[in-house]
Amino acid sequence: MRFACFRRLLLPAALLLGALILPGCRVFHHAATAVIVHKPVAPAKPRLVDLTKVQPNEAGVVPILEYHDLVKGTKVTGYQYPADAFRRDIAWLYAHNYRPVSLSDYVNAKIDCPPGTSPVILTFDDALRGQFSYTPDGKVDPDCAVGILEAFHAQHADWPLKGTFFVLTDGDPKLPPAFYQKASSQAKMQALVRDGFEIGNHTVHHKLGIRHWPDSQVQAEFAGAVANIHKLLPGYNVQTLALPFGVYPRNRKLVISGQSGGQAYHNICALLAGAGPAPSPMAAEFKPYRLPRIIPGNEKFALRYWMDYLQANKEEKYISDGDPNTFTVSVAEQGSLQTSRLKKAHLFLRTYSGTQIVSDGTTPPAAPIAAAKK
Ligand SMILES: [Zn+2]
Repeated sequence: MRFACFRRLLLPAALLLGALILPGCRVFHHAATAVIVHKPVAPAKPRLVDLTKVQPNEAGVVPILEYHDLVKGTKVTGYQYPADAFRRDIAWLYAHNYRPVSLSDYVNAKIDCPPGTSPVILTFDDALRGQFSYTPDGKVDPDCAVGILEAFHAQHADWPLKGTFFVLTDGDPKLPPAFYQKASSQAKMQALVRDGFEIGNHTVHHKLGIRHWPDSQVQAEFAGAVANIHKLLPGYNVQTLALPFGVYPRNRKLVISGQSGGQAYHNICALLAGAGPAPSPMAAEFKPYRLPRIIPGNEKFALRYWMDYLQANKEEKYISDGDPNTFTVSVAEQGSLQTSRLKKAHLFLRTYSGTQIVSDGTTPPAAPIAAAKK
């Protein structure tokens, strides 16, 4: 029930954002995918949670933010956003108890943030200059996204370096090299992974027409992007996909997996272009291959709008119990969860009412553990 209002808002939000984003996006967009790997390990005993201080709601929504280029100045366009506004976004999120988690951890329901905080996922599309650039003396530009995040992390150790870069490499000669500095493309990709960020698939050519393409061409597009990333990051597990413009191929199964030219791909999720907060990874509404995102800015259905909405409707927000192996919800929310996913993820389910534990989750789900995939 508590998502009813949220759901009513999503469709108009998606329509409006389509109108807002598409004209401004020089290189088009969207979707991310990855592989869930369940290792046969015994779950740790659930950590205690003080319900008099924290009322976890791990059935709540999670904002996935969608940034493009960061620029000097103050003008916000469909894909350009002031660096100073990005700084303010991060500071606001931190002050309001959001903490970044990786996209793959969210999809795999392994959200690890301190008790009482809420996860937020940062994504950056197109490998643009304002996301990661070096100054002439070889230092990280303090006004690019990576520079801003590193500086913030240095001041706030409990804001980890997490985020996903959906890159375009120079697989298409009409597109610029990754992060617009060819000599340092590889060094940047390596630095991102080393520092804790993820690299995701954003296709080779970034074309809107993918919806009309034959299966072989679609697979070449997704597999080719993986092969191009591997030229810079040999062996890297590319497991998330952002579909340019949020446009799907006619054969939607190809978003999940496929192969071309000897290169296989498998995505655990696919990201859309804007719309609103994403469901909890255990919510009945959770669809990993249709994850909505939120664009920055002050317009209706953009970041400011949704952050204000969640501040005014805190009962809809994901609030962590501080334990990535335990899923804690009030008894009222228990019925809105995908219990089969809980079992597959081998998570404890803990429920409470008021300040009293109803089920403490000490009996883990008796589901078979999925075989590890390579
Ligand atoms: Zn894009």
